[in-house]
Amino acid sequence: MQQHMITRRQALAGIGSTLAALSLPDVVVAAGQVSSNAGPEDPLGKYPKPPFREQSQPWPGLASKMDPVPDHGEKSYKGSGRLAGRKALITGGDSGMGRAAAIAYAREGADVAINYLPAEEEDAKQVIALIREAGRKGVALPGDLREESFCKKLVADAVSALGGLDILVSNAARQQTKASILDLSTEDFDATMKTNIYAPFWLIKAAVPHLKPGSVIIGTSSEQAYDPSADLYDYAQTKAATTNFVKSLAKQLAPKGIRVNGVAPGPIWTPLQVSGGATMEKLKQFGGNTPMGRPGQPAELASIYVQLAAADASYATGQIYGSSGGAGQP
Ligand code: NAD
Ligand code: MG
Repeated sequence: MQQHMITRRQALAGIGSTLAALSLPDVVVAAGQVSSNAGPEDPLGKYPKPPFREQSQPWPGLASKMDPVPDHGEKSYKGSGRLAGRKALITGGDSGMGRAAAIAYAREGADVAINYLPAEEEDAKQVIALIREAGRKGVALPGDLREESFCKKLVADAVSALGGLDILVSNAARQQTKASILDLSTEDFDATMKTNIYAPFWLIKAAVPHLKPGSVIIGTSSEQAYDPSADLYDYAQTKAATTNFVKSLAKQLAPKGIRVNGVAPGPIWTPLQVSGGATMEKLKQFGGNTPMGRPGQPAELASIYVQLAAADASYATGQIYGSSGGAGQP
């Protein structure tokens, strides 16, 4: 789904000088932007529907071990130079929405650093390889965001490896289902708050001094911010906090030319859900209660992360962009 019109110069820059001799229509088709026989694509039949096979993985889980394996746009995302020369740090960039954003950003011309937990090295390696295949710099920065000292080091390492920073995607999160507040330990509650609320605070605080006008911060919120599930007492309130800090920081940073926006996904097929984020009962029917009758795939949100980072969205700040198959209320 590429509605973005590109100029001939952008198209040529994006696909290299070997195609420079082709005529304009050839070039545009070659860049994957417009095809004369491209028609509408039915979103309902595009991806798997429930029921899904029973499955669970130890937290934090690996995308490559899910059945079906999620689609992060590995084979489908086509760039058009929308983020040429940009420098992005994405937390949780190994899998799920973060991986879809990392692939898309690299194919749009950005250098990308990803953070993830050491246990996710296998997923992360695949993402770094895809970034490099796109001809961009891919930087792997594993570590645990629950530590303030690591968050500071992560930003410093990303800035030095990329030669600056102008896109921060604060996307990592912890979600563990608990039927009752009585089952939720202080340690659990604390881990969710550290990952989902403190880490974005520490990361953004470390990043702001490096962000020049035109830079962006993107947070991943959730439909849980508006319509919390009974079994996600701790997680859901952190997503309300994310939505809220996006709106506060947008006001605070607009005078510096820095935009701050959020994405609010509905049920998306990612490792978070199969490693404690959902009950087995919910997982088997995952996404089935949305109007579309299926979960979303990370690839279906990639263009949103691109749009919020791109310079042509220059008047959008403090916005939350939903993608939830017809439910949710961003
Ligand atoms: P995911 O499991 O692919 O990504 C979450 C990532 O968070 C992991 O890959 C991991 O690298 C990272 N992470 C967790 N704890 C960490 C820690 N202590 N230190 C460093 N990294 C840590 O799942 P996802 O669904 O793509 O999640 C991405 C974002 O999307 C999250 O903010 C989540 O809340 C949000 N979200 C997901 C859904 C959904 O249905 N999957 C719905 C709404 C919102
Ligand atoms: Mg992961």
